[in-house]
Amino acid sequence: MKKFALLFLILILGVLFVIFSRKWDKLSEKDQSTLDRTLAHWETWVPARKKDSTAPLITFEELYKGLDSEAQGFLDRVRKIKPSKKDFDKSIPLKRIAGQKILRHGQSETLDTQYLPSKVYEAYEQMMAAMKQDLGKRLWVDSGYRSPAYQLYTFLYYMPKHHDSLSETRKWVALPGHSEHGDSNRQAIDFISEGGINGDSDFEQTAEDFERLREYKWLKQNAQKFGFKLSFPRGNWTTTFEPWHWRYSPSKS
Ligand SMILES: [Zn+2]
Repeated sequence: MKKFALLFLILILGVLFVIFSRKWDKLSEKDQSTLDRTLAHWETWVPARKKDSTAPLITFEELYKGLDSEAQGFLDRVRKIKPSKKDFDKSIPLKRIAGQKILRHGQSETLDTQYLPSKVYEAYEQMMAAMKQDLGKRLWVDSGYRSPAYQLYTFLYYMPKHHDSLSETRKWVALPGHSEHGDSNRQAIDFISEGGINGDSDFEQTAEDFERLREYKWLKQNAQKFGFKLSFPRGNWTTTFEPWHWRYSPSKS
């Protein structure tokens, strides 16, 4: 009899878990329209911030400004799904990286300005000097520091492309406060090759395109010496395979 009661309890807990974890998977119709309204409002000013290269520095105050209380409440709820334990240490100086140039399909393109904590930038530059010496090539910073507010914007921006499903979107974009791009102790860099290979599906590329680069093979052999580690190798449990995403976390020794 005791066994039966235990099984029953496990079943109830299982059902509750499924209900609880499904609760926020798909947005309600009301939330969907709130999201659409919010994205439309952001569309009026975020592109200008992307253009003047200050989008990765956007604050929550700026993101909430001009939104009605319902939209603000919706943003609060998304931020509470997995509250972040710590904020990016604002005392850390950020290095502005402007004027990086790639050659995509024979056309010269300047990448958006990026930001990295100074010590990460220095380690990256040292690593690139070594790569250049070995391969005659280097990698550029496609994405560096992103504020938690910009991460929230990015997360919601991609949500309609993932059927307004939180769990689907989370496979591709980290929740605000949980991206290594906004983590002072594990700052991530997304790399792009001089020829414009970054594995981005927007450019009809896959992770395998980046994986095939000689620069990637070089990173796998050498990055650790400079304090960089591959965060999401093939078959990881957190997210999809991201050969371009390396975090700076030098060992303490
Ligand atoms: Zn990344």
